[in-house]
Formats: sequence, C-alpha cells, structure tokens
Amino acid sequence: MARLRSFMNTNDNLTTDRPTFVTHLECGMEGDHYEADVMHGLSKAGKPLLVKYDLEGIQNSVTKEDMESRPTDLWRYREFLPVRKTENIVSLGEIHTPIVEIPKLAPGSGRLLVKDEGRLPTGSFKARGLCMAVSKAKEFGIQKVAMPTNGNAGAALAAYGSRAGMESYIFCPDDTPTINVREIAAQGAKVWSVNGLINDCGRIVGEGKEAMGWFDFSTLKEPYRIEGKKTMGLELADQMGWQVPDVIFYPTGGGTGLIGMWKAFNELREIGWLTGKQPRMVAVQATGCAPIVKAWEEGKEHAGLWKNAHTIAAGIRVPVAVGDFLILRAVRESDGFAIAVDDTVISSGLEEVARREGLLLCPEGAATYAAYKQSLEDGRISPDDTVVLFNCATGLKYEMPPAEDTLDCTQPIDYEALK
Ligand SMILES: *Cc1c(COP(=O)(O)O)cnc(C)c1O
Repeated sequence: MARLRSFMNTNDNLTTDRPTFVTHLECGMEGDHYEADVMHGLSKAGKPLLVKYDLEGIQNSVTKEDMESRPTDLWRYREFLPVRKTENIVSLGEIHTPIVEIPKLAPGSGRLLVKDEGRLPTGSFKARGLCMAVSKAKEFGIQKVAMPTNGNAGAALAAYGSRAGMESYIFCPDDTPTINVREIAAQGAKVWSVNGLINDCGRIVGEGKEAMGWFDFSTLKEPYRIEGKKTMGLELADQMGWQVPDVIFYPTGGGTGLIGMWKAFNELREIGWLTGKQPRMVAVQATGCAPIVKAWEEGKEHAGLWKNAHTIAAGIRVPVAVGDFLILRAVRESDGFAIAVDDTVISSGLEEVARREGLLLCPEGAATYAAYKQSLEDGRISPDDTVVLFNCATGLKYEMPPAEDTLDCTQPIDYEALK
C-alpha cells in the first residue's frame, strides 16, 4: 500500500477499505449460480459468468452524493466492483476519461460526443478490464496468466500483470501491429506472434493450461473483465449527471464493453439512480468481420464463425465471440442495432475527425463515427439524438499517413511557398 499511496497520494478511493457487495456469479446463458470468492472460468455450459451484487445493500450504503465527493477515477465506484481487499487493487491511475464534443460533425440539434478512452493507462480501455481482472487474480493468489490478443488487451495484461508481480504469456496473430507486440514485451510479458487469427491463439492458451499451469485470461473466459469495463457505463452516467445519451455506438469485438455498459445501466436503474429511457446500444463492426451484425440481421441468438476476417480495425477483428448472445441481447433489449462499416469509410472518418476537430481516433473509434454517419443517412437514428461514440484507444499507437515535406535551412526560406 505504501507504493500505491505515494503514487496517488490524494486518492482516498484506493486507501479506504469499503465493503463489497458481490453475492454470487451467474451463468449468462443458463442462470445457474456459482460461489463468489472462488476463481471461475466459464460456466458449466461453457458460457461467460456474470457477477451479481446485493444491489439493495449498495443502495443502502452509498448515495450519488457520496460518490460525487470522491476522486474521479474508476475506483470511485468501489461498491459496484468485485475487489474485496484494498491491498489487492492493482492500479496504474485509471482516471475518468473526457467526453469530447465534436460539434462541427453533428448535423442536427443532437450533441455528438466522443468518450476518449485513449487517455487510460496503456492507451486503451482494455486497462479498465485488465486492472479489475488482475486485481481479482491477485486476490485469488494466481501467479501465472495467459491470453490471446489483437494487441491492446495483451498490453494491458502485461502492464497490470507485471505490476502485480505475475508472469504473463501472450499470443498475438502475426499481423498484430509491431508497436503492440513491442509494448507487451517492454512491459515485462512473454509474447509470441502466431501465424493464425485470435481464435488460433486462444486455442494455444486453452490447450496449454495443463502443461503451463496458467490461468486463461481470454476475453469473457474470466468473469471480472466485464466488471472493469462496466465502469464505462457507470462513469458515463455519472459524467452526464446520472443521465444517459440516446444512442451509444460501441466498436464490438469480444463485446466486453457493450455487455459491461448494459450491465451498469441495469444496475443503476435497479437502485433508482437512472430513470427514464435507456440508451440504444449499437454494436459496430467492420464489413470484413461482422459476425454479430449478421446474427442480428438474421434474428439469431448466437453468431457463427466469420471466415477470412480482415479489417484495419484490429481490435474488432474477432471472428467468434463467446459472449455473442450477451451482445445480441443487450442490442435487442435496448432497441439498438448492429451495423458494419468498411475500411475505406473507417479511414476517411478517422481523417475527417482529426482534421476538422483535432481529435485523433483509433481505427475502431473511427468505425463508430463512420457508423454514426451511415445510421443518420439510413434514418436509423435522428440528427436530434444525443450520441456517444467510443474511442477505445489512443490514435498514437497506429501508423500515421506519411508527411514528407522538407525544408533546407541553409538556404533562404521562400515563405510564399509555404502557404
Ligand atoms: C478490444 C478493443 C475493441 C473491442 O472491445 P470489446 O469490448 O472486446 O468488444 C475495440 N477497439 C479497440 C482499440 C480494442 O482494443
């Protein structure tokens, strides 16, 4: 704790013990119960587990006003989170991320807002999920973890894992951007590039469990990442004055964030902190990898494996998601929809937001902007809707378009030519 205190000496969210309200875990598909305080992977049915809370207990122990008086970070929501002991919290400074309005790009009276998650540790919202999952793993005494990743999740696991003193083993498809592979290695994990897709990497992790004795940290195969991602919903509602926008566009890969946010809104609704209508949840995918969109359009409960998945938005290149039914359920329950955009509009959207509003998105974030434009054109949303787009990682991690103009400073400068 001494180290944590010195790192964030003003943060009483981390130094004060508070009760937690977890009652049990529940299979997202079958609804059967699992004991809290025991480390679980998937349910018996092979589906993700959801963490359940004594919401009445939360309601009786904390008010919105209490919460508002605390420092603005993820740990402000301690009562809604599963970590029992403060000493197990593994933190790198999970600040509230800003909501940046991009008014030049909104055609109507509705506000167009970007929740810029690129400001988090390791430069992506994966920090939210992994700081929670690693903290819980620490609480359970786990020392070795493994994960397949398209980049950002692995980087966050490497960072939080190293901070917690764990060994992490990370497997990336071999077209994962070099910067991601290197940041994973730099932050102390063992990392391999694999000549396959993320599901192939996932198989290596699953099949290596016995030989390596590691815990499988694949998306949704451990229950606490959703709780970390849930803070996006808690924080958004909090920042908007315990209100929600009309529509949320979320770049959907494994779907942890969409499922987590929907869980947050439902929990807040149950304790009466949110009233009125829920936001419409929109799952955004790329046309080169759109299993959820296909299942949504066909009215199916589960999504099939997407073959030959390809898109520049690596974070949403997930051909099969174990939480598919939870994503589809949230989209349907919220009267949202699922939409695919192609790589050319992702690139032009990225350029448009950067040039006109000075906000450098990641390709996945740009996909939500492209989807917003397409949905306006299709009439699926109204120009008067208040819309939140999720930019999930800093644009600085991605390759930039070239800028190659040069000047010779030994010669007189022709300023006219610079205009
Ligand atoms: C992981 C990731 C996503 C997808 O998030 P999920 O919650 O897993 O669907 C989107 N964009 C980026 C940059 C990511 O790293």
